[in-house]
Amino acid sequence: MQNSIARRVLGVLLAPLALAPFNHDQATPAADLVITHAKVWTADKAHPRAEAVAVLGDRIVAVGSNREIETWRGPHTRVVDAEGKLLLPGFNDAHVHFLNGGIELDSVQLTDATSQEEFARRIGERAQKTPRGEWILGGDWDETKWNPQEIPTKDVIDSLTPHTPVFVSRYDGHMVLANSLALRLAGITAQTPDPPGGVIVRDAQGNPTGALKDAAMDLAAKAIPPLSHDERRRAIERAMRHALSLGVTSVQNMDPDYADIAVYSELLERGELKVRIYAAPLITDVDDQVKIGIGHAFGGPFLRMGAVKAFADGSLGSRTAYFYGPYLDQPSARGLLSDEMHPISLMRERMMKADAAGLQICTHAIGDEAIATILDLYSEIAQAHGAADRRFRIEHAQHMAAKDFDRFAQLHVIASVQPYHAIDDGRFAEARIGHDRASRTYAFRTFLDHGVRLALGTDWDVAPLDPAETIYAAVTRATLDGKNPNGWFPEQKLTVEEAVEAYTMGSAYAEFQENEKGSIAPGKLADMVLLSQDIFRIPPESIRHTKVLKTFVGGKLVWESGAENR
Ligand SMILES: [Zn+2]
Repeated sequence: MQNSIARRVLGVLLAPLALAPFNHDQATPAADLVITHAKVWTADKAHPRAEAVAVLGDRIVAVGSNREIETWRGPHTRVVDAEGKLLLPGFNDAHVHFLNGGIELDSVQLTDATSQEEFARRIGERAQKTPRGEWILGGDWDETKWNPQEIPTKDVIDSLTPHTPVFVSRYDGHMVLANSLALRLAGITAQTPDPPGGVIVRDAQGNPTGALKDAAMDLAAKAIPPLSHDERRRAIERAMRHALSLGVTSVQNMDPDYADIAVYSELLERGELKVRIYAAPLITDVDDQVKIGIGHAFGGPFLRMGAVKAFADGSLGSRTAYFYGPYLDQPSARGLLSDEMHPISLMRERMMKADAAGLQICTHAIGDEAIATILDLYSEIAQAHGAADRRFRIEHAQHMAAKDFDRFAQLHVIASVQPYHAIDDGRFAEARIGHDRASRTYAFRTFLDHGVRLALGTDWDVAPLDPAETIYAAVTRATLDGKNPNGWFPEQKLTVEEAVEAYTMGSAYAEFQENEKGSIAPGKLADMVLLSQDIFRIPPESIRHTKVLKTFVGGKLVWESGAENR
């Protein structure tokens, strides 16, 4: 007993100082956790495969054969027999909207409504259960699943929601439908002008239809009462449980509210933050982080900041992604630069400020001209401030101009991509932008061929948080409508190995944490996930049915299938 405590204390003291010299001789301290009989895929190029892992404190201390790891076993070591299942590094989702995801888990579900009638019926049912005066939010509707594919108007929900303000989002987050009550509370009338970077959709008489695009959404959003601290905490706790149940051990939280960071900080203080967070608040508030004086990846293993999130344009689905050429199905439009880009000098000034402070810049850019414009700005920054390890990111990087792959690589820009969007947008992208532009849509293979680093994520709550769906999407490119079973632009498919690598090491690199996590290797944080099937061996179309058996964060078992709560 005494001896074991002494060994444990010694191990904890030594762990951060001297991991390298540890090996399986008699001086080896007992591990806190040993996972044996696993098929370990490490994402560590030096030792890609193993059978067992030893963990001391929150770190991996040894990776090897069952026999090698056996020597780490002491009387108090917790032993997990993986029964031959696949053990991977924990997934690191490089682009989530964590609070929205948590709210979405508890809000009206509209994504799979197959008609406008169904959409309206679900909102009506929700209104019945909603206390008077409370808003109906979220929803993530998708009119492309309806026939006809029409953007809904407030007329279809007004009679069902006379006392309930409704502000339901399109699934891409670039459009909402507000009912009459919500418009009235927000003061939006026929006389309200379109804001820069936004559109109030109107009928033939000029009256708002309730559909609001991009910056116009903010006009109505201002009328929504703020979440209470408790509501926010509950949503984030829901999001964490969901993430861990899917093997997502780290998330990179795009444009969080500061109040979200306050919740993370409170959870961290109580030891209840179980998912590792890298938070990138909006670049519009860049002065705050500059004032504090923090740089990229400031913080500790569970909570870091030091990045800013910028918006260059909208989305393909809302026809607000900004292109050089027009939309084929709406020739008068070629998208919208975001309000942050009016004028572009405003964005330049904010980015220069962020970079001078050592903050990392992550910019949402989807259309080819939006991406090109951001690459121009990145290049100006690099020239003005000199060489540095800045890890510029473009979020989505969806529709590339052929000319831009080379400079994307030369500027060392990370492509932070969401494969699920590819199989989703692939249903309608060609009708909107034609074959040539579509051939460079989510061009994962072309990025890799040019030496561009990929970081994988989902954009949850815009797409499902499930890594099994993301990997399935990256390796099959089979569109959700079933029309491209062999892959939509199949030459852009990733292998399973490439997808997992980009989802672990790639995402870790994208947040400056490749030495801390992203692989199963001695010295790294012990974040691991045990899967129900070997995704490297099964037919690619079966990958999406993979379940998580166990999730470990910092060596602690934080989720287990079959065990309801942990
Ligand atoms: Zn996003």
